[in-house]
Amino acid sequence: MTPDVPVRADLVVVGAGPAGCVVARRAAEAGREVLLLEAGAAEASRRAGLLDVGPGSQVTVNHRAESGGATLLLPRGSTLGGSGAVNGGYCAAARPADLSGWPGGGWPRRYAVGLGRAAERLRPRLVPADPVAARLAAVFPGRVESIAQARRGGLRVTAYQAWDPAGAGVRIERGTGVRRIRWQGGRAGGRCDGVVLADGREIAAREVVLCAGAIGTAALLLDSGIGPLSGHPVGQRTEEHPEILLDLAEFPAGGGTRGGPCLATAGPVLPSLLSRVIRLDIGGAGIEVRPYSVPMDRVIPGLAPQPHRIGVALMTPSGRGEIVPDGRGGVRVVLDAHPDPADAIALGAAADLVRDSLGISAPAVPSTSQHLSGSARMGEVVDDSGRVLGVAGLRVADASVFPSLPRCGPYYSVLAVAEDLAARIAVERPW
Ligand SMILES: Cc1cc2nc3c(=O)[nH]c(=O)nc-3n(C[C@H](O)[C@H](O)[C@H](O)COP(=O)(O)OP(=O)(O)OC[C@H]3O[C@@H](n4cnc5c(N)ncnc54)[C@H](O)[C@@H]3O)c2cc1C
Repeated sequence: MTPDVPVRADLVVVGAGPAGCVVARRAAEAGREVLLLEAGAAEASRRAGLLDVGPGSQVTVNHRAESGGATLLLPRGSTLGGSGAVNGGYCAAARPADLSGWPGGGWPRRYAVGLGRAAERLRPRLVPADPVAARLAAVFPGRVESIAQARRGGLRVTAYQAWDPAGAGVRIERGTGVRRIRWQGGRAGGRCDGVVLADGREIAAREVVLCAGAIGTAALLLDSGIGPLSGHPVGQRTEEHPEILLDLAEFPAGGGTRGGPCLATAGPVLPSLLSRVIRLDIGGAGIEVRPYSVPMDRVIPGLAPQPHRIGVALMTPSGRGEIVPDGRGGVRVVLDAHPDPADAIALGAAADLVRDSLGISAPAVPSTSQHLSGSARMGEVVDDSGRVLGVAGLRVADASVFPSLPRCGPYYSVLAVAEDLAARIAVERPW
């Protein structure tokens, strides 16, 4: 941790993930003096297509989540760029219908403006179909959506490169984790007047914006006295896209490759893990079929050899999860705390359809999309400018604030919503 972190700042942004980079840059452009604090100290590899989330990764932290009686690992990027520096990189925009229930009115328009700003910076481009995607597209004609990725040549472009907060004058401190919010007069829930760092040092601030991700932000709020007891349903009814994986071993273009070299060390340019998705509607349930281009162990360093699999994800789940204090200073993530049996039925029917269409008999391996959101929802924990309700000096601007999860990966939406909230932070007077 840096020894000379300043003791005072106008605006402190916690977390240099996608949302944090957007908010920090835009606030600095608007004339604010911004300090961006990132817990991760190590720098992520820039190789596009590499998902550095395997055992031994220096740029992730692993949360354990309960789901269906099993334990799933939720790796989260802990580095400049956050999970956007280690994710699958697929950029898809929400549809207006996904945002119709968002509070404050006008979200489809606000989102469109935010997305336009995000697109100017990130400039994701469609990538050519890989053989597995092409084969699946032939099986489901008319259901195929092309996927854009933010890569230039063989390099990944993260929000950290695209928004370049340091270039706008933001002071960035890496390896500087925040332990909790500081409250004026020590009374939780009054006025936030800074942050307390993991090593106990304190930074005074006129305003703090939490961008620590759906798990990190919920943990900080809960540990700082903002939660169900203060009337804020933090961590309650979180949303995720459950996914099951099907082996492609018997599928011609799938290849059934196993045990090949990890491409992360083998070739100059890595393939995109996803170039197309198949969107299906099964009895009203939105399904996304993900024809992963290679087995996961080819792009995740350190992973044991795996079968080549495709994903089948439920994009309209009714079940909800929760993030609660674990009694040991951390949080416990339960993805299916409030399950809905209809979700399992829809996912099972989708898996059967995919198996029948491909002529395979693969068993289903439970997994998850790594899309957790909604741990500090707009309308319930924050207002539609990201201000924590009933509290002064504190906002949230990351995936936590999503009132509902769009029917696509959240990455592009996190950037679009952060652009919108950043514009509000720039024009609204701090408390
Ligand atoms: C493996 C994986 C693959 C994914 N693939 C895709 C995909 O292909 N397409 C897609 O749309 N979405 C994908 N996602 C989801 C997407 O990456 C996230 O929704 C998005 O990154 C969320 O952005 P965020 O800013 O809310 O949080 P994050 O990206 O989680 O960033 C939070 C940052 O805050 C920092 N932080 C946390 N706590 C503290 C603290 N106390 N003090 C200081 N700093 C802190 C973290 O280190 C991190 O850098 C994937 C996610 C993962 C994990």
